[in-house]
Amino acid sequence: MPAAWRALAFIIVGGLSATALAKDKQPSAIVIGGGMAGLTSAYELQQKGWQVTLLEARPSLGGRSALATSEWIGSARLQPTLYRYLDQFKVKAVPAPDYVRTPGYLVAGRYFSEADLLKEAPSTLEGLKRFDKSLDDLAASIEDPLKPLANHTLQSLDAITVARWLEKLNLPPTAKALVEQRIRSRYDEPSRLSLLYLAQQARVYRGLPDTEMRSARLPGGSQVLAQAMAKRLKTIKTNARVSAIVQDKDGVTVKVGGTGYTADYVVLAVPLPALGRISQTPSLSALQLKALKDINYGWRDQMLLKFRKPVWGKSRLSGEVYSDQGLGMLWVEPALKGGANLLVNLSGDNARLMQAFGDRQMVDQVLIRFDKLYPGAREQFKGYELRRYGKDALAGGAYLAYGPGEISLYWRLWEQPLGRVVFAGEHTDALYPGTLEGALRSGERAAAQVIDLKAGKSVGPVETVAEARPAPRPVAREEKKGFFSRLFD
Ligand SMILES: Cc1cc2nc3c(=O)[nH]c(=O)nc-3n(C[C@H](O)[C@H](O)[C@H](O)COP(=O)(O)OP(=O)(O)OC[C@H]3O[C@@H](n4cnc5c(N)ncnc54)[C@H](O)[C@@H]3O)c2cc1C
Repeated sequence: MPAAWRALAFIIVGGLSATALAKDKQPSAIVIGGGMAGLTSAYELQQKGWQVTLLEARPSLGGRSALATSEWIGSARLQPTLYRYLDQFKVKAVPAPDYVRTPGYLVAGRYFSEADLLKEAPSTLEGLKRFDKSLDDLAASIEDPLKPLANHTLQSLDAITVARWLEKLNLPPTAKALVEQRIRSRYDEPSRLSLLYLAQQARVYRGLPDTEMRSARLPGGSQVLAQAMAKRLKTIKTNARVSAIVQDKDGVTVKVGGTGYTADYVVLAVPLPALGRISQTPSLSALQLKALKDINYGWRDQMLLKFRKPVWGKSRLSGEVYSDQGLGMLWVEPALKGGANLLVNLSGDNARLMQAFGDRQMVDQVLIRFDKLYPGAREQFKGYELRRYGKDALAGGAYLAYGPGEISLYWRLWEQPLGRVVFAGEHTDALYPGTLEGALRSGERAAAQVIDLKAGKSVGPVETVAEARPAPRPVAREEKKGFFSRLFD
């Protein structure tokens, strides 16, 4: 064979065997972010035979999984994905006692169940029920919670803030304060929230009795599930903060300090404010970049106050107890080392305004108020733990909470892959954002998308992304001054 032909044959054979090799090569993925979403994606991909590297910026895994040593969770009907993973990893939830299954209220320091309100403050209870009924009416007008922008009426709800709508309801003052506290604890300040988002979320949970919202406790908190997942993963790098992602036609390179990790695909499972700090080549789309600047995150800080004994006497501060006086939402936590622990969730603009304070000053602000309600509290106080998600550069807030106009612009935006990069995280779930359920679901969805991309299937666009429609003009966020004085003084 002449030399030129021999060379050609070599190239063809070599080319064929390279293709065969590429076919046999174990597919690989890098998962960025070791919260519940990233852990789920990594676990699912590894189960399907992928070689997975999980990169987490912090020294430990679990991300925003709450500070609680024992979280209240909903029922299996409410959080089916969570329960499926709890079963799979043999993590047991314990049924909640009856008294935490319905919310409690702390009015001027006194604990009220709904039954107490009926006897002693019927107008407050009437206000709470009227709010529930009005919200349920709005929810009922949404046929499919995956399509909240289905008609013009719904689209116009996106331009209205929850605060404006509450004004119109004209609730008695105590009922209004308690409703506002419920909304800011679950989402964000009513003045920063889209009414369509509140209605869509109510639609997701519509028809499920309220008692199912807090029907079980998870001893050890969701951290236990995070640890169980992490144990199954082969390659985890902690203290690995990703600064850049570069894609080319063959794969993706992810930079951590001076080290580059390469793989076929990336799952990017970090909250949006943290995502904005990672440089990407090619760049995010113009809409994604705008979303990074705009999309509202709720603000919720958690403070675990440790007392020598339960200073709240006979008040049952457990389950979800909403204060009318700026103390946020409270619940009793098991005190593992003796004493009595109270978890205080400060949220919305109360929490934002507290950012001017240092940790200890912030705790003192709450203790001063608590001591007024339960004299002697400061003497019995023995320590605290604090998580300030808004100040944390790796979180940048508590969780996604669409502001006015934002559903119209950004609905299901983050379910679109960007080339070889697929997005996960609670903020990417259309039905259960801001929850463990949403984070787990998004991790599963991202893993499935990566597998589809590898198989050459097209992924998206998701039909309900509202690209073509002009967004209703967002109503300016309401004046913020005065929250501190209104709620704390
Ligand atoms: C105060 C509070 C209370 C909550 N209570 C409940 C509740 O009762 N019930 C419920 O269902 N849900 C609750 N949630 C919501 C739930 O905790 C979250 O939805 C869920 O933990 C989010 O998981 P995630 O994986 O999407 O994000 P995260 O947990 O934030 O995970 C993202 C990870 O990415 C890492 N990261 C960020 N940037 C980088 C980078 N550049 N490189 C590498 N890693 C990076 C972060 O360190 C983090 O570990 C609560 C949340 C908060 C804040």
